[in-house]
Amino acid sequence: MAGKIVSETLSKLARMGDVTLYEPAGDSPHNERVRRKRKQEFNFSDCIANLQTPRGPKPVLKTMLTTACERNCHYCVFRAGRTKTKRMTFSPDAMAGAFDTLQRAKQVDGLFLSSGIIKGSVTTQDKIIDTADIIRSKQRYRGYIHLKIMPGIEYDQLYRAMQLADRISVNLEAPTSARLHKLAPKKIFVQELLCMLQWAEQIRRDHPQERLASSVTQFVVGAVGDTDLELMSMSDKLYAQARLARVYYSSFSPVPGTPFEDLPASDLLREFRLYQSSFLLRDYQWDVEELPFQRDGNLRTDIDPKQAWADEHLVHAPIEIMRAEREELLRIPGVGRIGVEAILRARRRGALRDLAQLKQIGIRSPQKLANYVLLDGAQPARQNRLF
Ligand code: SF4
Repeated sequence: MAGKIVSETLSKLARMGDVTLYEPAGDSPHNERVRRKRKQEFNFSDCIANLQTPRGPKPVLKTMLTTACERNCHYCVFRAGRTKTKRMTFSPDAMAGAFDTLQRAKQVDGLFLSSGIIKGSVTTQDKIIDTADIIRSKQRYRGYIHLKIMPGIEYDQLYRAMQLADRISVNLEAPTSARLHKLAPKKIFVQELLCMLQWAEQIRRDHPQERLASSVTQFVVGAVGDTDLELMSMSDKLYAQARLARVYYSSFSPVPGTPFEDLPASDLLREFRLYQSSFLLRDYQWDVEELPFQRDGNLRTDIDPKQAWADEHLVHAPIEIMRAEREELLRIPGVGRIGVEAILRARRRGALRDLAQLKQIGIRSPQKLANYVLLDGAQPARQNRLF
């Protein structure tokens, strides 16, 4: 009997396919978005994503407990009343059993579990927690688990989910309450979403001895007039105050049969620039005010934000590579943390006087630096033939 349930669940999972296409979960969100070609026969490959997880690269079962939902977020394929969506639901036992089978067969090593909301957030979250509990307690699986947090759940549920998972997602969807109201009228920005991220950080602080999940969030970009300034301001607050591991920016893509079906898709290049800017805030300790926003509150899409900043600030005041502090070196376009360490090591050994030397120590495109640096007091000569 148990075998029959597992085989039916596996077959349903395969038919459900890549239902979490719009929910990035790893460190290379762009690769996750590549829709796999439709095949004649269903198989599991559509619901298995190769993710860069905090525990390294892993094939992860990325799926939902139910594709039914009682909420009506305007952009969502699973919104209540959308007749084109096939609704499928799994019990915690069935989902955990299917995961166990796939994991033992070495087809997956990790779980990302999301869900539509049925009978309220609290009931739905209980089912997600029950699934993870079975996998951890009965199946004794110690690998990677990423759980979605439903809006407005109870504090104790959040704490339990954080004990079971490596990572939790609380998707804010929009950077302000007013924008969220236009995207998802039944979601409440502060009480149901922001508060969850604040609680998660409080739980980590209150239980420093426990191994608890890190938090991530996602924004839907470009459907309701959100600006890059709004998105970056909220991201900055989240990194600083809720210690988010990362923020995902998902370009809006219209779904037929939803109120937003006629809106244009948002620019993928904008999404890319948002990721670049977000990393400047998270990894390079930039302040939001330093990002080169235009008057309309958006970043240019035609240029890397670090380079746009450098064009404004470094062209007339280049950084002296031989004497600059680590933080100053990090401001140079084309130089990341590894590049800075290479420069610091190399200049202890002797003067860096031309771009070819930067190439030799591992700076990939030294010609990009030419306008922004001095090498031992002199503007570097462009020596294209060397590269
Ligand atoms: S609550 Fe989630 S699944 Fe339901 S409509 Fe909104 S985004 Fe979609």
